[in-house]
Amino acid sequence: MIVISLGTNLGNRLDNLSRAINLMSERCLKNLKTSIILETEAIVPSDAPNNWNKPYLNMIAVGTTNLPPHNLLHELKKIEREIGRPKIYDRWSPRIIDLDILLYDDVLINEPDLTIPHKELYNRSFFLHLLALLNIFPWSEQREFKNTFTKTLTLYPKFVGIVNVTEDSFSDGGKYNYVEDACQQILKLSKDGASVIELGAQSTKDGATIVSESEEYKKLDDVLTEAEAFIGEHKIKVSIDTFRSEVALRLLKKHDISIINNVNGIFDEMSLRQIANSACNLCFVHSLDVPVVSNRVMESNSTLIRDLMSWQDMHIERLLSLGFDEERLIFDPGIGFGKTSYQCINILQNLAKLRSANCRLMVGHSRKSYMNTFSEEKIPVNRDIETIANSLSILDKVDFLRVHNVRDHMRAAVAYQSCQ
Ligand code: AMP
Repeated sequence: MIVISLGTNLGNRLDNLSRAINLMSERCLKNLKTSIILETEAIVPSDAPNNWNKPYLNMIAVGTTNLPPHNLLHELKKIEREIGRPKIYDRWSPRIIDLDILLYDDVLINEPDLTIPHKELYNRSFFLHLLALLNIFPWSEQREFKNTFTKTLTLYPKFVGIVNVTEDSFSDGGKYNYVEDACQQILKLSKDGASVIELGAQSTKDGATIVSESEEYKKLDDVLTEAEAFIGEHKIKVSIDTFRSEVALRLLKKHDISIINNVNGIFDEMSLRQIANSACNLCFVHSLDVPVVSNRVMESNSTLIRDLMSWQDMHIERLLSLGFDEERLIFDPGIGFGKTSYQCINILQNLAKLRSANCRLMVGHSRKSYMNTFSEEKIPVNRDIETIANSLSILDKVDFLRVHNVRDHMRAAVAYQSCQ
């Protein structure tokens, strides 16, 4: 059993961890199991510059390898550099990623370039805590874990935090309609652990006021411009939720956008080619009408999942022919977009069939009205308990969950993962 520790306190910390885990499992570690993530205060000498004192995210990954210890160390150092860590750095300075070998079976090494077990293993309570949580003996015998972390997070699934810069979105319309409020929310959701922040300036609910194209663009542009420094420093990934390709393309030219979330799934070919030529990901959402038209829903429950699968296949084929590669496509079955409440639940029950090998899956069920089928809570903003409970049922079946309340989702997902 090999135990690797991962630490990061620069840039987009969750993304750094996620990239390191992916690279390690591609190149040098098999059967990887990951721990939850602990946020801890930086350990720095008393005379260190102020800007070194940035909180770390730490986790461990347990797996197997064919590589001997020194070769494994070499691979880990290569991955560190690929993610952006310079070859030469000050000892206690902030780092984009730090990968260390904590344990390598019961091997003992004490050489200048490699010590196993890692020499800090017993000095850092978060290492011992993470080993105990994964029930790794003898650390699982521990009894103490006080003051070990300031916050806990998980890596999977990725949470997409919603910021509606609108007057009339169904659950938070008017709350983030001003630039400062929207920016505050971006900051909050990122601190809460959102992997992506999704901005939208046009409500898609039934009867929504249609804002003009220029107004939609301006609102999104204003927020992105105001939040630019923060987004840049923390390398926050931004998604734009729009059914207007012109808005998406104009924003793509000016800002660093990670995902275009095409809420009606039907951008024209020329626009799609342009998006395909950028580095941006595309989320294509199944819907019948945007904004939603009540009572216009999918025809038959018996063919619902098959129809969605065919729709997805058809769109993947089209998008591939327009220049996208599979890694940049995300499918969203569109909970609440032209489906009855029963159909929404049916979709959530059948996500495994909709998670095609050819693209990632996003689900956006947060606070939506299908929850009326099992909850008497009629006010969308009060439906977070129901949302989170549904999220836990589908946690392992999605790549992205698009939610309003990231902090509580993160708490629930950490609790869920801790007992898995
Ligand atoms: P760090 O600053 O934590 O990345 O550590 C830097 C150096 O520690 C590496 O260049 C390694 O040669 C050395 N080292 C010693 N033991 C270990 C270990 N168990 N895992 C990783 N690096 C180690």
